[in-house]
Amino acid sequence: YTAKVHRNEFQSYHSEMNQTTRDKLRLESDLRKALENEQFTLAYQPLVNLSTGRIVGVEALVRWQHPQRGLLPPGEFIPLTEENGLILPLGEWVLKAACKQNKAWQDAGMPPMRMSVNLSMRQFRQHKLADRIKSILEQTGMPPEYLELEITESMTSDVEFAIDTLSNLKALGVQISIDDFGTGYSSLGYLKRFPVDKLKIDRSFVTDLTEGSSDAAIVTTITSMARHLKLKVTAEGVENDDQLRFLRERNCEEAQGYYFTKPIPANLFEHWYKRYLQTA
Ligand code: C2E
Ligand code: MG
Ligand code: MG
Ligand code: MG
Repeated sequence: YTAKVHRNEFQSYHSEMNQTTRDKLRLESDLRKALENEQFTLAYQPLVNLSTGRIVGVEALVRWQHPQRGLLPPGEFIPLTEENGLILPLGEWVLKAACKQNKAWQDAGMPPMRMSVNLSMRQFRQHKLADRIKSILEQTGMPPEYLELEITESMTSDVEFAIDTLSNLKALGVQISIDDFGTGYSSLGYLKRFPVDKLKIDRSFVTDLTEGSSDAAIVTTITSMARHLKLKVTAEGVENDDQLRFLRERNCEEAQGYYFTKPIPANLFEHWYKRYLQTA
């Protein structure tokens, strides 16, 4: 009896594994085709300076126009590309497309704004990353000071490697920010040694900023620490007036979130921006 039960458990576990493996293999082969067939697109979300109201930058966020499954958010495919290495060609495509777009906007007479691009761990560890980015900047004609690279705390766990890599990137003249700040385990003691320009407070701390909440305390602490370390701060995931008021009172420089707009394609962003200038 027990033997039989075990066998059935084993079988169902086994066939689930096969299904998962099959889905993954399918997704992986779709991803390879997607790279060849240019099925990726970028959505852009503005970053707003909270004292001037100006749009000071946009973050480029990748989406996948899947032929059968529709528009897929990065959460559904970035983890697999990080696992199988496809993030390297994909990440390169994102950097190039984002720089091209920024240059096109500047050429069209839009006031200059920064372009933020997320880097993944694999890219951060890639051999000669700074050289690759330098050549993308040259190919696209993008001024380096307008490119902002977003890394996460986990990439700084090898402290010496991180300082070295970040210094090479900074030497190109680009900006660097730490994304999802507060969710990793970065050592505050090392923070001052990293050549970074900005902290982006993770969305999870911005959701509940009611007076006296623990998130309110965390956000207050991060903004004041950043000020002492001479780092800029962006709050992610701002969705309402109350959050905005709270952040302004704490002298948080920048905010990003659905309150302003969700990430949208380039042409929609251009319309959104024109309207924003008229109403601001
Ligand atoms: P992230 O870099 O922290 O990007 C911000 C995410 O928060 C975006 O999700 C954005 O749509 C979402 N968001 C912004 N404002 C709000 C808000 O007010 N409320 C809520 N609920 N969400 C908001 P998205 O586009 O799905 O991207 C998820 C993550 O995927 C990104 O988080 C980033 O880590 C990663 N990602 C996106 N594009 C790339 C890329 O080109 N390369 C790499 N390596 N990762 C990327
Ligand atoms: Mg980001
Ligand atoms: Mg990120
Ligand atoms: Mg984030």
